[in-house]
Amino acid sequence: MILLDYSQQELIGFFPDQKPYKVRQLYRWLTKGVDFEGMTDIDKAWREKLSAKHIACPVRIFRTFESKDGTKKFLYRLSDGNLIEGVLMSYHHGNTLCVSTQVGCRMGCAFCASTLDGLVRNLSAGEILGQVTAVNAFLGGDANQRRITNIVLMGSGEPLDNFDNTVKFLDLVSGPDGLNVSQRNISLSTCGIAPKMIELADRGYSVNLTLSLHSPRQEKRRNLMPISNAYPLTEVIEACKYYFLKTGRRVIFEYVLVKGENDSDEDARLLSRLTRGFSAHVNLIRLNPVKERKLLPTEEDAAREFLAKLTKLGVSATIRRQMGVDIEGACGQLRRRVLKNGKD
Ligand code: SAH
Repeated sequence: MILLDYSQQELIGFFPDQKPYKVRQLYRWLTKGVDFEGMTDIDKAWREKLSAKHIACPVRIFRTFESKDGTKKFLYRLSDGNLIEGVLMSYHHGNTLCVSTQVGCRMGCAFCASTLDGLVRNLSAGEILGQVTAVNAFLGGDANQRRITNIVLMGSGEPLDNFDNTVKFLDLVSGPDGLNVSQRNISLSTCGIAPKMIELADRGYSVNLTLSLHSPRQEKRRNLMPISNAYPLTEVIEACKYYFLKTGRRVIFEYVLVKGENDSDEDARLLSRLTRGFSAHVNLIRLNPVKERKLLPTEEDAAREFLAKLTKLGVSATIRRQMGVDIEGACGQLRRRVLKNGKD
């Protein structure tokens, strides 16, 4: 089994013949991203037994790519050979890691590379956490000296389509025995699975919730995002309001500007109506190129005008700086990779 799928307390229960302090030592190594052979204070006999049956590092950095702007993209290898991607953004206030929650995605958004191959499988909680421990170790940090200060669930996959593993990951990563990352420093982005947004709030989570909105009109939105057929705009906005009321956290809307699709004056007006009455912020992103897709980004000037219109209408909004486009590490560009003959 993947040991990182479990909490320290659960592991103590799994190994009744070991003293709890021994299991706590094991857990510390796991959260440091160290494999069995590096667990120096654990006796060899137990290490060998563990490594015959279990996995300590479910995610391994297979390749790294560095953008001109300093953003790093990681190609990770999972224990079953699947490859996923993740992105590290460094700011003066810390490091933000963008993690994936699924291999592929089945949401089918018209502009996104992650969904091109459909869903291959869900990641387990330990495989989501393993991305954080692997990059922490890569940066020379550990559970006490965390190099990753912020986590965004904005890589490949739809976190709320893998709800149980995602919330287990949140428990593990924010738990005091583990990396202890505050939920205030974690953002979860969803395409709008309304009942799960409500469940997240009801279960007492308080991560920052981001909705991929992309259009204030149901008709248009369902063309861009098929999930909108199941959970129409009105229902998703209600779920955002509910999340805000329950958690007090400001809701963020992601809005990818697609030329001629969602960037008109009327769109700005309708968007301002949608966000009225609760604390929300709109993050505008000019569409990043995905070669299989025909959609085009709104021109830079037009994007600035759209922002100005929103601001005039009283909407809190900003244009997000594009990062990592040259290494296909920007929003919507992450994808599943496959190895040819064992090489990439
Ligand atoms: N499935 C979740 C998590 C993915 S987050 C969600 O949909 O929110 C990735 C973000 O990048 C989402 O807001 C997504 O809509 C956006 N995105 C997808 N393709 C994009 C593209 N080509 N350019 C810019 N942003 C894109």
